[in-house]
Amino acid sequence: MARIKNVEAYCSFCNALRKMELAGDVTGAENKRWAKCKKCKHTMIIDLTEDVKSNKVSLEGIENETVETYSPKKSFEVGQTIYHQNWDDFGKIVGKEVLSSGQKSISVEFQKSGHKKLIESLT
Ligand SMILES: [Zn+2]
Repeated sequence: MARIKNVEAYCSFCNALRKMELAGDVTGAENKRWAKCKKCKHTMIIDLTEDVKSNKVSLEGIENETVETYSPKKSFEVGQTIYHQNWDDFGKIVGKEVLSSGQKSISVEFQKSGHKKLIESLT
């Protein structure tokens, strides 16, 4: 297994997913690593199986991008950034699927709310 240097993991100081630089092994804990948050510069122990996001979705700074305000009636594309007014939360669309009812839905990673499924193209 190749050694990962940079991961996206949950920072307990920022209370958010952050890019982190792995700093070293933790003695006696195979799945844990010392990691330094690139945002707040704190070093902490992260759990590679729990804290690290497997898919590399970067939500950092998306609130400064041009975002589409979410509405169930709109259609969206994977990779698009959206803003959810009710939750006051920014997210990035990571997937799309059609539900058994025929209704289209989008999978979104939100900065605060985490992974959510939302309806799109509601007629
Ligand atoms: Zn941090």
